[in-house]
Amino acid sequence: PDSVPRKSTGRLPPNINQETFDTAIAALTKQLGSDGVEINNKPLVDGWYMEHPNTHDAYHIVDQEEMVASAITYPSSTSEVQIIVKWANEYTIPIWPISMGRNIGYGGAAPRVPGSVVVDLGRKMNRVLKIDGENATCMVEPGVSYFKLYEEIQKTGLPLWIDTPDLGGGSVLGNAIDRGVGYTPYGDHFANRCGMEVVLPDGSLLRTGMGAIPGKNGEDNPTWESFQHAYGPSIDGIFSQSNFGIVTKMGFWLMPATGHQSYMITFPREDDFAQIVEIIRPLALKRILGNIPQLRHAIQELAVTGKPRTTWYNGPGRFPRDVVREGVKNLPVGDVSWIFYGTQYGDPSSISSQLALIKSSFLSIPGSKFYLPSDLPPDHYIHSRVSVCSGVPVLKELDWLNWKPNAAHLFFSPIVPVSSSHARTIHTLIDRLHAKWGFDTFPTLCVAGREMHYIANIVYDRADEDEKRRARGLMREMIAEAAKEGFGEYRTHLLFADQVAETYGWGGGALRRFNETIKDVLDSKGILAPGRNGIWPRSYREKGWEL
Ligand code: ADP
Repeated sequence: PDSVPRKSTGRLPPNINQETFDTAIAALTKQLGSDGVEINNKPLVDGWYMEHPNTHDAYHIVDQEEMVASAITYPSSTSEVQIIVKWANEYTIPIWPISMGRNIGYGGAAPRVPGSVVVDLGRKMNRVLKIDGENATCMVEPGVSYFKLYEEIQKTGLPLWIDTPDLGGGSVLGNAIDRGVGYTPYGDHFANRCGMEVVLPDGSLLRTGMGAIPGKNGEDNPTWESFQHAYGPSIDGIFSQSNFGIVTKMGFWLMPATGHQSYMITFPREDDFAQIVEIIRPLALKRILGNIPQLRHAIQELAVTGKPRTTWYNGPGRFPRDVVREGVKNLPVGDVSWIFYGTQYGDPSSISSQLALIKSSFLSIPGSKFYLPSDLPPDHYIHSRVSVCSGVPVLKELDWLNWKPNAAHLFFSPIVPVSSSHARTIHTLIDRLHAKWGFDTFPTLCVAGREMHYIANIVYDRADEDEKRRARGLMREMIAEAAKEGFGEYRTHLLFADQVAETYGWGGGALRRFNETIKDVLDSKGILAPGRNGIWPRSYREKGWEL
C-alpha cells in the first residue's frame, strides 16, 4: 500500500475553506517556527512500527485517506502547546493530540475527525524530567517511550524497573492515559501514575495531585509523584480516555528491582478453558499470582514463531483447529490447546513456595505440564515474556505481522469476570463471530484480580478491501452481541468509539450526558479531539458525526 498515489492532495478541517486554513497555518507557523508546523499533503506512508506515520492510521480499516490530519504541529514546550490550543480556539480548528502515535490496533496517530490538526507532542517533548531513586518514581514528557525510560534508568544504575506493554516503542504517558496494561505487578499503568500537568481546552494550565501545591522557592512540589489524591475531588481520571485536556507531564511509580521467575503451563484440551479460569480466580484474588499473567490459545504459539500462516495452512476459510494441533505438535509445547504464562517475584524461597502452590493448583487438570524458561529452547516466545515481565521492553510481538501479507491488527477487548460461565459465554461468542466473518481467532486473556481483559486480535490484510470490510463487520457485531450479554470493552479503535460508548448506556445514557456536560464547560468551541471515546462537543452532536 505504500506506493499508492494519494487521491486528494490534502484534507481540510470541517467548515474551514482553503483560504482560512492557509491564513491559520501561516499564523501558527509564525509563532512556532517552520519546523513547528507541517502540512499533510505528501503521499501517505504506512511505514512500520518503529517508523510509524503521524498523518493517519497505519493500520487503516477504512480507506487509508479517510482518517487523516490536515497538518501536524510539533510543540517543544508546554507553553507552545498552550499557543496551539489558543490558536485552535481562535480559528475553530479541531486538534488531535498524540504522544507518539504508536497506539496501533486502536487508531495509531489518526484523528477521529478528518482534517484535524495533529499535535505531535512526542517529537520535541521527549525528556525524562526526573528519576527519584529513593522513592522509586519518575516524571516524563509525552515523547518518552518505554525503551527510552528503560535506557535512562539503566544509565543511572538505579535498581528500578519500568512496566512495559507487549511492544516497547509506545509512549509511557500516552499508553497510561489510554489505560493500557503491562505485565509486572505495576501492570495497570493508569493506577501507577502520580501527578499530571494538563493544558485545558481553553489553553490554561492545571497541575493535579500534590502538584497543585507550589513547592518552596518556585520548585515543583516534592510529593507530586508520591501521593495521587491530594485534596478535594480526584480529577486525574477525567483526563484518561477523554478529550478534556492535553497532558504534558506525568509522574509514575517505578518498581524496585527484585528476583523473578517466569513459567509456562500447558493444557491439552480445548475444554480445559473453564477449569483453568476457575483455578485462576482464587490465585488472582489472593494475589498469589505475582503479575498480570496471560492465558493464550495454542494458535498463538504458531503466530509468534514469526512464520506466515501458509507455513501450516493454505486452504480456504479459517485456520482449522486440527491444523493448529498438528502445527503445535512439532513445536516444543507439543499437542496442547491453552498456554498460561506467569511470573512470580521476590526472593528465591518465596518464589518457590508460590510456585509450589500454583503448580499444584493447575496440575490438577489432567495432562497439564509446567515449564521453566530453562526447559525451552532459546528462540521460544517465553524468553521475550521473561523480559517483559521483568521490565525490559521488547519488539517480539511484531512477529505476529508475518501471519498475513500487508498485515495489520485490530483488537476487540471486552472485560470479563474471572468466572468460567462468563468466560465461556464471551469466548464462544467471539469464536462464533470470527467464524462467521472468516477470521482466525487469537484469544489472549490478561488476568487482573477480579476480571480478565479478553484481547481478541483480528489480523487482516490492509491491501484487501474485502478483509477490511469483514474486520469492521466482525467488530461491530462483537460489540453489539457482547453488550447484549452485559460485557463492555475497556478500550477500542477510534472507528468504534461511538458504538462502544453507546453500550455504556445505563440510566438513559447518564454517563454520556455527564461527559458531555464536562466537555461543553471545558471546551466550549469543541476544538480538542472531538469524538474521542465517543465524547462529542456540542457543535458536533447530532450532525451525523457519530459512527
Ligand atoms: P502511544 O504512542 O503510547 O501508543 P498515543 O500517543 O498514540 O500512544 O496515544 C494514544 C491516544 O491517547 C491518542 O490517540 C490520543 O487520543 C491520546 N493521547 C495521547 N497522548 C495524549 C496527551 N498527552 N494528552 C491528551 N491525549 C493524549
